[in-house]
Amino acid sequence: MPRCTTPQTLSREITISGHGLHGNRPCSVRLVPVASPSGLLFVHTPTGTEIPAKADLAGDLVLATTLVKDGVRLQTIEHLLSALSGLEVEHLRIEVDAEELPILDGSAAPWVDAILEAGVQGLEGRRRFMKITRPLEIRNGDRWIRALPFDGFRLRYVIDFPIPALGRQSRELSLTPEKYRRELGAARTFCLAQEIDMMRARGLALGGSLDNAVVFGADGPLNESLRYEDEAVRHKMLDLVGDLALLGAPLMGLVEAHAAGHAMHVALAQAILADPGCWEWTEDAEPANVSFFFHPLVAQPA
Ligand SMILES: [Zn+2]
Repeated sequence: MPRCTTPQTLSREITISGHGLHGNRPCSVRLVPVASPSGLLFVHTPTGTEIPAKADLAGDLVLATTLVKDGVRLQTIEHLLSALSGLEVEHLRIEVDAEELPILDGSAAPWVDAILEAGVQGLEGRRRFMKITRPLEIRNGDRWIRALPFDGFRLRYVIDFPIPALGRQSRELSLTPEKYRRELGAARTFCLAQEIDMMRARGLALGGSLDNAVVFGADGPLNESLRYEDEAVRHKMLDLVGDLALLGAPLMGLVEAHAAGHAMHVALAQAILADPGCWEWTEDAEPANVSFFFHPLVAQPA
């Protein structure tokens, strides 16, 4: 399915309220359609601070993606950005009345459902894609992420945790809005039970519970059930889609990540933006021969 070639916003406003995963404070988000293509713009309503969803404004990246501008922080933006990017809604005003977005059920599904219910609206002009023309990699020991040329938008992700309940998971996917909704959107954030004390000591995950996260103990998830057998790696891909939205434009390329996280996702987005020699603008969204693509340098995940 070719990607949408028209810039899109929402057909009507949406308001969603909840509480933050890390600060556990109440918060409310209003998604407001825009009249012309202008990207995704956050507005912190108590101060009126406008913060564009751009990688160069990303700050604190421990267990969430945070935008920082003029001393104002907006934390845990990645699941909303993921839903918007996954559904190709890239032009919107996002008003937030707190310093963190609601965690809801820990996935992007409540955002996806609300967006689909409101409907999307085409805007004037053509959608422009950032087409990767040269490989670009960020590596930290055996954790790495890279962007490679590819006619389409494809993700390949591998995680490898040293507990049997999680272990090694890998998944690969060419993204369309329908595949995003079906395969990634409902995957919940997760953590290891053994990490919870450490996170709380650092003031993180204070609003976390089995209602908004999957917690993996030594013998398996403490939750009653998983939404997908490999829900963890799917959530990492959901996070990656959200973090790549900080490019400010849709990507055309293959992104591979191995044991990465928000910091590496955002570092890749920053590296792409900083190196215009590795990508070019294109309006041609038609994927060519997707099914036969295989990058020879990369071993297929087991
Ligand atoms: Zn997440």
